Amino acid sequence: MSDKRNDIPGHGPEGLIRRRDFVSGLPLALALGASSMARAAVRPPLPRPAHVVVVGGGIIGVTIAWHLARRAVRVTVLDPTPGQGCTQGAFAMLIAGQPEGGSEEFNALYVRAVADWRRFQAETGNVLPIQWGGTVNWAAPGDRADTMAADWRRLVSWGVGAEAIAAGDVARLCPGALPGEFGAGYFMPDQGAVDIDGVMTVLQAQAVRAGVEFRRMSVVDLPRGEDGRATIMTEHGPIVADHVILAAGAGTTALASRLGAHIPLDLVSGTLAHSKPMEPVLHRVLNGPLGSIKQNPNGTIVTGLDYAPGASGTDISEAYGRKLFAIAARTVPALKDAVLDKMTLGYVPIPAEGRMPIVGPLAPAPNVYVAAMMSGVTMAPLMARMIAAEVVDGIRVDMLAPYRPDRFNPQWNA
Ligand SMILES: Cc1cc2nc3c(=O)[nH]c(=O)nc-3n(C[C@H](O)[C@H](O)[C@H](O)COP(=O)(O)OP(=O)(O)OC[C@H]3O[C@@H](n4cnc5c(N)ncnc54)[C@H](O)[C@@H]3O)c2cc1C
Repeated sequence: MSDKRNDIPGHGPEGLIRRRDFVSGLPLALALGASSMARAAVRPPLPRPAHVVVVGGGIIGVTIAWHLARRAVRVTVLDPTPGQGCTQGAFAMLIAGQPEGGSEEFNALYVRAVADWRRFQAETGNVLPIQWGGTVNWAAPGDRADTMAADWRRLVSWGVGAEAIAAGDVARLCPGALPGEFGAGYFMPDQGAVDIDGVMTVLQAQAVRAGVEFRRMSVVDLPRGEDGRATIMTEHGPIVADHVILAAGAGTTALASRLGAHIPLDLVSGTLAHSKPMEPVLHRVLNGPLGSIKQNPNGTIVTGLDYAPGASGTDISEAYGRKLFAIAARTVPALKDAVLDKMTLGYVPIPAEGRMPIVGPLAPAPNVYVAAMMSGVTMAPLMARMIAAEVVDGIRVDMLAPYRPDRFNPQWNA
C-alpha cells in the first residue's frame, strides 16, 4: 500500500518594512547552522504527536504542515482563507540583511534561512518558482547612502556576501537599468526572490498529496484541555488534537491570549503593483531609491515604492498602480510597457521589541506552539524544519533560544 506522504518529492518510503528590513553568505550559513544544530539539547519530550492542527494557512503554516507531513504526522490546517493573509501581499525577497540595529546573531539566522531555501527547493522537487540572481541595493547621495555604506561594512564584517558597487555596476549587474544619482550601494549575490503565488500553489498541492487536510474555518478559542490533549474551538465546533501550532499571522495575538500568553505583534501595511507577464527584463531584484522591482519566473513584474514600517501604504487604486510602474520605468525603461494586472495590500505582523521571531511552546499549555515572525517568506523553510523537529522529536533547538515566547511572559518564570 502506498503512503501519500511519499508524494513529497525527495522522500522515500522510510521518510515517514522598510523594504530592506523585509530584505548572503551561503558558506557562512552552513557553517553557523552546523555548529548550532550540533548543540541542540534534548528536553523531556511530549509524546510524539499523532495529530497536529496548524492554525493559519499562510506561508508559515503551510510550510510547517509540509514539513510535519513528511514526518508521518497527521496534519490539519484550519484557515477560512488560506494564503490570503499577509502572504499574498509579499514582495517575497529572500533576504539576509538586517543592517540597522539587528545583532550579528539575528542576522546569521536570516543568512541561514536564505540558504535553507536551496534545501527546500531541492526537497520540493526543484519546481518552486525562485529567482536566484541576488539583490542590487543602492541609494541616492545623502543620509541614506551613508547608512547604506555603514550597513555594507557591518554585513561584510559579519561574513555576509555583500559586494560594494559603484554607479556603473548597476547596469553591469542588470543590463538596461539606470541608477540615477548614485550615493552608495552593494550587491548581495546569494539572495533571491520567489513568486509567492506560485510557491503557495505548489506547497498546498504537495501538502494535500502528502495527506494534509485543509479545512476552511476560523478558530475562535483554545480552551485548556484536562486530558493533556489540545482542544481547538472552531466556528463549526471543537477539534481535538495532540498538538496545536499557532501560525495565524496577525490573528496569533488574540488566540494566544486565550491561554494567558502575551504575543505582541505590530501590524504594518504595504502595497505592491503586479504587471501582466512580460518578456524577460530582470534577472535580479533591484532595491533602488525609486523602489523595489523584480520579475517573477513567469514574467510578471512586481514593484513597490516603499513599504517601510511607518509608511503604512494602503492605496490599491489602479491610478496608484500605474504610477508605481511609471516610477519603476525611470530605473528600468523597458517597464514603460508594463501593464498593471493587480494591486496587493498586506499587513505584516512584526514582533514587537526588536522584530525577532516568537517561536516555541506556550508554558500554560505546552502542546500549543506559536510561530510568528516578520520576513516570513524568507524564514519559512528554516523555521518550519526546526519547528517540526521540536514538535515531533521533542528536541529543543538551541538556535531558537533567543526567540522564545517566554521573553514576553515573565509571569511564567515567577
Ligand atoms: C508589501 C510587503 C512586502 C513584503 N516583502 C517581504 C519580503 O520581501 N520578504 C519576506 O520574507 N517577507 C516579506 N513580507 C512579509 C511576509 O509577507 C510575511 O512575513 C508573511 O507573509 C507572514 O506569513 P504568515 O503565514 O505568518 O501570515 P499570513 O500570511 O497572514 O497567514 C496567517 C493566516 O492565518 C489565518 N488566520 C488568522 N486568524 C485565524 C483564526 N482565528 N483561525 C484560523 N485562521 C486564522 C489567516 O486567514 C491567514 O491566512 C512582505 C509583506 C508585505 C505586505
